[in-house]
Amino acid sequence: MFPYSKPRTGQISVAEKVANTISSGGCLCIEAPTGFGKTVAVLYGVKLAGSPNTLYLVRTRNELVQPLIESLKIGLKPVFLYSKKAMCPLLRGGSIDIHDFWENCRILRKTKMCPYYVNTEELDVESVYKFIERLQNPFKIVRELSKRGYCPFYSLKKLLPLSNIIILTYPYVLNPSIREAFFSEEEISNYVVAVDEAHSLLSIADIVEQRVSRIRIERSINEIRKYSPQSTLLIDRLYHLLDFIDKASVDKRLRHVDKDFLRNLLGTPDTWFDLVDDIRIHKVKEYGYRDVVSIRVYCLPIAYLVWSLYSRYEPFIYQQNDLRYIVSKPIDQSIIVKPVFDKASSIILFSGTLPDPSYYSDVLGIDKPIEYIDVEDVYGPVFPIENRVLVIATYVSSKYSVRSRHIYKLYADMIQYTFNHLDHGIMLTVYPSYDFMKCILEYMDLDKVFIEERSTRINDVIDYCTNRKKCLVNAVAGGKLCEGIEIVDKKGRSLIKVVFIAGVPYPQPDDYVELSLKQLSLKIGRDGAWKHLYIDTAVTRTKQAIGRAVRGPSDQAVYILADNRFMDPRILKRIGLRINKIVRSRAEYMRVVKVLLREFLV
Ligand code: SF4
Repeated sequence: MFPYSKPRTGQISVAEKVANTISSGGCLCIEAPTGFGKTVAVLYGVKLAGSPNTLYLVRTRNELVQPLIESLKIGLKPVFLYSKKAMCPLLRGGSIDIHDFWENCRILRKTKMCPYYVNTEELDVESVYKFIERLQNPFKIVRELSKRGYCPFYSLKKLLPLSNIIILTYPYVLNPSIREAFFSEEEISNYVVAVDEAHSLLSIADIVEQRVSRIRIERSINEIRKYSPQSTLLIDRLYHLLDFIDKASVDKRLRHVDKDFLRNLLGTPDTWFDLVDDIRIHKVKEYGYRDVVSIRVYCLPIAYLVWSLYSRYEPFIYQQNDLRYIVSKPIDQSIIVKPVFDKASSIILFSGTLPDPSYYSDVLGIDKPIEYIDVEDVYGPVFPIENRVLVIATYVSSKYSVRSRHIYKLYADMIQYTFNHLDHGIMLTVYPSYDFMKCILEYMDLDKVFIEERSTRINDVIDYCTNRKKCLVNAVAGGKLCEGIEIVDKKGRSLIKVVFIAGVPYPQPDDYVELSLKQLSLKIGRDGAWKHLYIDTAVTRTKQAIGRAVRGPSDQAVYILADNRFMDPRILKRIGLRINKIVRSRAEYMRVVKVLLREFLV
């Protein structure tokens, strides 16, 4: 029944634990590095438990591929969904707000003006299953359904009641406004909920945040003037909002804004949603049905922002690249996931880098009994430990109170020296923030280096590194590159040879973190709250970054943790790696790195 002839050590035991957790209705946290085969172990556990209906959640659409293939191999009946907007053949990748798209799609279906939807109504479920079984790749399946004139989203949605493995991107279950369109609270109780890359729940508030830029407000004013000129009160409200944004003292960090002040300024959500409907009706008449799918109503995010002011969200203001934003998000992250996790029949959380298991009860409010398993602790290392060398440099720190030109130069010097002595491959340098990275890069030779920006895509860095003998990639902890980059040669061996962590990647202190700390302290005390918000985040980000280098049994890597605060036993214990060398001075660092890069990395 297991889909491979030789299971890896521990895979069957983990699958049995999954099955036991499903029977007992608990919560199982599985920490296992890349290479263990978590996906197949979890899915096989579902099979052993009698194939109960399971919502299998993935962070990105690329992560749908593997569970779909493995489910088919195991003999489960899978279906998948990712962003309806991205799947829509009518929109063809146009960029509009997700809520705009859902509303446009609703109008097109109601009026039967979407030919793909009309065709799909006639499509029988068995034919859709045949596409899945034959093509086994989500993107090919979506392309094929579109090519044949069907709406991929509604074709696949037909299979939800008939499938026992429903593979979905996070928002379908974890974003309440999207979840409610799919599953009632009662229905969730019929499902096991399995969350892949569950360390991402540390920043789950980001997926539900409501954000409005200053430019968006200006466009909304023009839009209201054109389509609803009688709404003078709302135009006045937006002018006052602009005035507030312009006068506020802001920087890159989130600054808390008084919620009552914003409520008084903007009024109630119903008025804004009515205005949005009114404008959309005008635009539908103006554009004609052919272009309905791409209609954008600029006021829509303002309506959602106002809605959030009447929910358990808090508003903040900040500036990025000369643009000012108001953003609103929940301080208590449990309000997002608790309704799902409380109702789910059982929960399986898995990742290569889980936070301390108490995070899930303390911060996310999981009430079910939690069992935690670190696969490498129980069954031994997945890849040989002698392939990794860990050095901690204690003569530097990114701590705010010691940041200075001297410190930036020291870091720049270490990074440059290390890179100069790397013969081939990629050195991934990870900074706690964009600001800190910028300060260090000022002292470095920027020829032949890749620098992550907020708009960087993973393919940008892969393109940059392809065909270069060696590259220095500068990335920000918790960013896209540290979470998802995997660069391998033709034989599948990792090209990342050195991971240099330039400072403990604690979250940047701002009003959001401060409010979260205050609120969580009321529940579990300040020490516990600090541990979860700072230590768990820093450790998870560090492990994510260093995990980029060793993806297979023959990969070798040097990890350099450059900050004396890495010696904190709470951090060291959670990182869980053997320290090979602690260096306390620049001279010692140079000596050790030179030898390591010459003799260890071959
Ligand atoms: S129903 Fe039409 S508009 Fe909606 S997602 Fe499908 S193809 Fe796109």
